[in-house]
Amino acid sequence: SERAIAVGIDLGTSGARAAALSQTGEVVGFAAVHFTDPAEMKSPAAWRNRVEECLTALSQCTSLANVEGLAVDGTSGTVLSVDGQGRPLGGVLMYNDPCPDAAIVERIAAVAPAESPARGANSGLARAIHLLKRSPDAKLLHQADWIAMQLGVTEAVSDENNALKTGYDLTSERWPEWIREAGMPIERLPAVHRAGEPIGVVGTTGRAFGLPESCRIHAGTTDGCASFLATGAGSVGDAVTALGSTLVLKLACEHPINASEYGIYAHRVLGFWLVGGSSNTGGAVIRTLIGDHRLEDLTARMRPDCPTNLDYYPLLKPGERFPINDPAYPPRLFPRPDDDAVFFQAILEGMTAIEMLGYKRLHALGAPKLKTVRTVGGGARNPVWSLMRQSALGVDCPSARSMEAAVGAASLVLARRAA
Ligand code: ADP
Repeated sequence: SERAIAVGIDLGTSGARAAALSQTGEVVGFAAVHFTDPAEMKSPAAWRNRVEECLTALSQCTSLANVEGLAVDGTSGTVLSVDGQGRPLGGVLMYNDPCPDAAIVERIAAVAPAESPARGANSGLARAIHLLKRSPDAKLLHQADWIAMQLGVTEAVSDENNALKTGYDLTSERWPEWIREAGMPIERLPAVHRAGEPIGVVGTTGRAFGLPESCRIHAGTTDGCASFLATGAGSVGDAVTALGSTLVLKLACEHPINASEYGIYAHRVLGFWLVGGSSNTGGAVIRTLIGDHRLEDLTARMRPDCPTNLDYYPLLKPGERFPINDPAYPPRLFPRPDDDAVFFQAILEGMTAIEMLGYKRLHALGAPKLKTVRTVGGGARNPVWSLMRQSALGVDCPSARSMEAAVGAASLVLARRAA
């Protein structure tokens, strides 16, 4: 196979993964190392160990001697406090940890622009302010920033995608003054680069993994953006539907769209704006109402040519954000047919309708017409659902090149090289 020239590293909630890509974007090496204990998810030392083990495993499956660059993605919104040398001070808040101090969230709400992604109970900025308050001299880093520093980056540097939820302003390309008013000392935040920009070299650190000392480190991204890029989607009009526990739509747009009432915000990546929306429907409803072990048998008995027309809106409890914003929105799952194959088909029809409504909503907010839709997540394995969706969407539905975020991180390096 071809030589590896770009490496991507993904740090997720289950462990570290690394992918090596050739010049043409072919995946020529892949390795994964799992956390051995859930506590490792919150331990920078464990992040570092797993990443190093993963790079070692990658170098054993393919030569890294010609790798020109690497990039790291991490869980979006996971932050840690470090000292002046980048050493962790013990504070880590995960992407889904609510900020323990409600007053910080309120203060942000009072000064942040209406459409800021830094608003809300799960605000990345709120977590960051809280962490820095606890250690007066600390600096703030995102998970991916810190890993890049372990691999050779010498300063506190972040990327626009990770910085977005911490309050970074993509229009002026700086940390805005209002975050100071919210309680964030800007001088304690990392400098921010566009995703994919070179920010350092691995130097002698690369030796252990067979990387050349000249191998560049590029500004990374979030797991969400990396997963989009991994699929091979990459130009305006390309969409990715994630059929995991929840239904998530992402679409490459020419212009940013921010609509906080729908939980929609835009990341800048490569030459486009990645706009996404997340519904509460999705595989968790299927798992709860049907059970994963029965899906294959029931799917085989479905009759997609005979729609049930039951007009379901499958939710586990009331409340929806996108494509309909209504905290009390009721699930619709009645009447329930006697045959569970028909019940399951009606659920999939309902989810397909929500997906369609989602893309319509994005279009109404200014997104371009769909050109392609790629699919990732557990639901992508269902051939009948794929056919139902393909005929509803009416556009080209190529299969995803990869579902591994690490592949997307590596493709940032390739895109930079081509530019
Ligand atoms: P997560 O979002 O948790 O990472 P996955 O991408 O692994 O989830 O997808 C798991 C979900 O996919 C489960 O909720 C499961 O019910 C659903 N799923 C798995 N197989 C199928 C199938 N054949 N048809 C529909 N849904 C499926």
